[in-house]
Amino acid sequence: MNPFAFAQANTVGEALAGVHDTERASFVAGGTNILDLMKYGVSHPGMLVDVTRIPDLNAISALPDGGLRLGALATNAHTAYHPEVEHRYPLLSKAILAGASPQIRNMATNGGNLLQRTRCYYFYDPDTPCNKREPGSGCSALHGYNRNMAILGTSPDCIAVFPSDMCVALAALDARVQVAGPAGERSIAFGDFHRLPGDKPEVDNTLAAGELITSIDLPAKGFEKYYTYLKIRDRSSYSFALISVALAFELEDGLIREARLALGGVAHKPWRSPEAEQYLAGKEPIPEHFSKAAALALDGAVGYEHNHFKIELARRAIVRTGMMALQPETQLPGAQPSL
Ligand SMILES: Cc1cc2nc3c(=O)[nH]c(=O)nc-3n(C[C@H](O)[C@H](O)[C@H](O)COP(=O)(O)OP(=O)(O)OC[C@H]3O[C@@H](n4cnc5c(N)ncnc54)[C@H](O)[C@@H]3O)c2cc1C
Ligand code: SF4
Repeated sequence: MNPFAFAQANTVGEALAGVHDTERASFVAGGTNILDLMKYGVSHPGMLVDVTRIPDLNAISALPDGGLRLGALATNAHTAYHPEVEHRYPLLSKAILAGASPQIRNMATNGGNLLQRTRCYYFYDPDTPCNKREPGSGCSALHGYNRNMAILGTSPDCIAVFPSDMCVALAALDARVQVAGPAGERSIAFGDFHRLPGDKPEVDNTLAAGELITSIDLPAKGFEKYYTYLKIRDRSSYSFALISVALAFELEDGLIREARLALGGVAHKPWRSPEAEQYLAGKEPIPEHFSKAAALALDGAVGYEHNHFKIELARRAIVRTGMMALQPETQLPGAQPSL
């Protein structure tokens, strides 16, 4: 690891001032991703500004409109087990508990989870070409071992997936990201926060240089009755998603009134499908309808040499998630039945 300076910020203002030289400085929260990237030689910040001491940013608090504010510095564990999250937003709780390990969730923060970087093997290996790590160098995954890579929204420059579980649920729940930066405060709709690779895969999201995430806000509607998060992975713990599905709906007279569907492990960002959601509205929650919704959600999916299987796997996972969502009380928090 290269030598670096370290400072602790006690206010948002101090944090923003600390990273004014954004070429060299980075925020650090739980450190579970950025320190790994520094050890692997992928990131080389000359200065880390620790934001974990800023008061209030670790709180989880009610919003006047009935929603819930998740402080950017609240840990993933604190968030998943917070009574308001467990009872009003169980989809989110379940998604967070499907990620990482208890030890990592105790360190990892909500803001850091949104900004974790891809787990593409080539991105982590500075000896290989990678447009995300070194723009213009090429994409080793395109014709390399691409089993874990994306099937939707890819570009010839990058086929990596965004690895977060929490963010798939946040996309389905219509969260908003609140940020503070050199130009003031602003609010970003979750669907606009992460981006597709296009010809700039080095840019993961729409955060401006030097901006600090202060909270993630959930709207009042939490879909607490019919929901589930299904994560399919190679090992039952400590493993990133091959495919994940966040699905929730409201039922009225046995028909779906409103549905939310987002996929993980398929694209450079959580993949929300408005087409599938619109199709499901007014339909009975039966496998045939979830299967049609899956076809809509996966329209345009393209596999690469080693990951064609993901298209059929995602289709089946959506149908299964739809049926599981009818009986969320039978599912243990974080537990996933085998396929
Ligand atoms: C072995 C292992 C397994 C894992 N498995 C999973 C998994 O299955 N599912 C999953 O979703 N995740 C998984 N993770 C990832 C983990 O969830 C993330 O590393 C974690 O959420 C990052 O949070 P952090 O606070 O540690 O971020 P840090 O490492 O401190 O920071 C990450 C990035 O965010 C920036 N940052 C942090 N906070 C802010 C802020 N408030 N505003 C602006 N920028 C900020 C930092 O500058 C840095 O660029 C795993 C991690 C490990 C190490
Ligand atoms: S898929 Fe993206 S992250 Fe992976 S090697 Fe290609 S450019 Fe790099």
